[in-house]
Amino acid sequence: MMNRLLASAAFLAALSPVTVPLTLAQQFAGGAGAAPAGVKAPADPALRGAPYLDARLSVEARVDDLLPRLTPREKAKLLHGVGGFADYGDIARIGLPRVVMTDGPQGVRSELPTTALPAAITLAASWDPALAEQYGALLGRDAKATGHRILLAPGVNLARTPLGGRNFEYFGEDPLLSGEIAAGYVRGVQSEGVAACLKHLVMNDQEAARLALSVEADERTLREFYLRPFEIVIRGANPWALMPAYNRVRGTYAVANAHLNRTLVRESLGYDGALISDWGAWDDGSDAAALNGGTTLRMPDDDADERDGALLALVAKGEVGQDVFDDAVRRNLRLLFRVGAFDPLGPVPERFAPGNAALARRVAAEGAVLLKNDAATLPFDAAHIRRVLVLGPNADRRFTMSHGGSQELLKFGGSGATFPAYEITVASALRERLGAAVGGMPWRLDGDRLDRAGLQAAARAADAVVFVGGIDHSQDHEGNSGERPDKTGLALPGPQAEAVALLVKANPRTAVVLIGGSPMALGALADAAPALLLAWYPGQEGGRAIADLLFGDASPSGRLPFTLGRTLADWRVHRLGVRAYPGITYADDGRPAALQPDLARSQASKGDVRVFYEEGPAIGYRGFELDGIAPDFAFGHGLSYTTFAYSDAKRTGDAVTVAVKNTGRRAGAEVVQLYAVPPRATTKLPEADRPLRGLVAFAKVALAPGESRTVTLPVAARDFATWDNAAARWHSWSGEWTLDVASSSRDVRARVPFRVGNSVERQAR
Ligand code: BGC
Repeated sequence: MMNRLLASAAFLAALSPVTVPLTLAQQFAGGAGAAPAGVKAPADPALRGAPYLDARLSVEARVDDLLPRLTPREKAKLLHGVGGFADYGDIARIGLPRVVMTDGPQGVRSELPTTALPAAITLAASWDPALAEQYGALLGRDAKATGHRILLAPGVNLARTPLGGRNFEYFGEDPLLSGEIAAGYVRGVQSEGVAACLKHLVMNDQEAARLALSVEADERTLREFYLRPFEIVIRGANPWALMPAYNRVRGTYAVANAHLNRTLVRESLGYDGALISDWGAWDDGSDAAALNGGTTLRMPDDDADERDGALLALVAKGEVGQDVFDDAVRRNLRLLFRVGAFDPLGPVPERFAPGNAALARRVAAEGAVLLKNDAATLPFDAAHIRRVLVLGPNADRRFTMSHGGSQELLKFGGSGATFPAYEITVASALRERLGAAVGGMPWRLDGDRLDRAGLQAAARAADAVVFVGGIDHSQDHEGNSGERPDKTGLALPGPQAEAVALLVKANPRTAVVLIGGSPMALGALADAAPALLLAWYPGQEGGRAIADLLFGDASPSGRLPFTLGRTLADWRVHRLGVRAYPGITYADDGRPAALQPDLARSQASKGDVRVFYEEGPAIGYRGFELDGIAPDFAFGHGLSYTTFAYSDAKRTGDAVTVAVKNTGRRAGAEVVQLYAVPPRATTKLPEADRPLRGLVAFAKVALAPGESRTVTLPVAARDFATWDNAAARWHSWSGEWTLDVASSSRDVRARVPFRVGNSVERQAR
């Protein structure tokens, strides 16, 4: 059905330069005496003064007024983009200006530099929805400042596999953490009057063959896990737009999938916003299927006039009902009124407001995860550490674009690439702090040869060593951005572990900083390094934030948003074989094809490719726990420079309360986690039919030395329910549950018995 060539043209479209919308940019420049910025009087004099132009009326009243005034062609025009990369609207008769969307999940993408925040995975690792709200608000302001009203972000696909190319721009492996962080983010973006477009609905969890793929997953796996973050965000933040993905779900393309878009999202969740297709996912042949399937806006589109006729013909032929057509227009109008498309723009935010860089630095510090810190290697004592050797593949490397447009997108991750005015690397931040006392050196000779003696001599001559390793965007990137769409393995490139072992022998005061946005196999390197700080892609202020942490100006408070295993086979999905990842091809007769292409070669692999989510709910730490596999570092793990004691954990109504005290000498923040453990009797049931232990609440609490606070962790009926595939309804598990009050998924500090009664049954829906 779907024209795959066109779908793959979407990523070519993504390569074309993103232009600043001149209309809006010019309006910004309008000085005294200019018409109110953003307001375009309707070209049709009969419409001047119409109620829909009155910003004091409610969005619904304005939609109700405008909808019947539209001509059929105008309605059709509101169902698709209008040329350019991400342009929409532009209907002079009604006074609708061109409305421009942009990517930028971690920094708004524009021809003009904007603030490059740390990658979204850093935000997940902060475990702080309030911080996510500030992050989102900054993006909203930068979107407005660059003339954009719709931000194509955030993405809440799950880290089902550690190889997923876009894991760095999502929020990890747990649906609750992803949903709560994304909800904060969306509240922030929209608080600035800019729409967030939550993406990619749904199960677009791999880049390999993403344009051809059908995800085969049962209803439980879909509802409890992959749809769950979308549900949390829709309920908690009402994103004004949602993006159906490229892939198919059980054979039907996401844009045309009525079960997803209509039954689950629009009807069950009461979602009232626009559904914007991923770029090229709605193509010429699928107009009727997409509209009937619940998608409301086709992006991009550069053949606008022809498209209007084609869409109207569908209604004339009865392939799309007038009610379906009008409902799609209504939702898109709602989006336009919500972003103020007919209203004065109001003040244009400053692109480099003083707080922006500070927030970027704070997020990088709050999200960095101290994985290991033997013998209190960190923080370095500034009074004694003057000469620092900094080296490693990422010591002085940029992870953001150095100029705008999209020329460099593919090298910096794809649509999540950022374009800041500057980026401070770890090496430059240490030089800024310590001046000439910072030494650097190539960490290896040609190829992977190490200058063993040289490295050790340099390490001995320094007071401390900082090795900055990990991976980069040649591995972590969108499907269109590299030779291979997903990562091919977990190993760190080059002899990083060996280099670290040599350095540590010469100077035990060695800290390893890791860059990367997806799970890496740290085994040998983690064994060798006394101190290990996972700093993600830390954004334009990353180096400074890392220096703050190394020298103890701030205490690390990030926690892992995914499990770090030792080998790929630790993840059940990777033990299940190619059916489970990256998928297999089906022949025309509906059976698996004899010859299987290398699906991991391209996002656009041809044919009927299917991937089977056969691990079901055994995703992330849930899978490690079920299979009895000890990870290198557990989900939720992260150390601090101080210590925390938990006491007095107890049930208080529908919550657990616990007192947390900072028992060390430094300020720090603890992330208190609550995992629900099902009644013992359920463990006898087949795994696919029973509830599993999982995260149900968390709270981050900042404490001064000696300070104590009582933390409240609420639970809800849904936390004790599973989707029953056979009965097609939620099933509540009454009985004796336990709530683990924990500092990581494996570090349980208190166990609270929690009896769940039958009354939850009704509330679980
Ligand atoms: C990506 C989306 C992105 C869109 C527009 C697609 O290839 O999957 O995440 O928003 O392009 O750039």
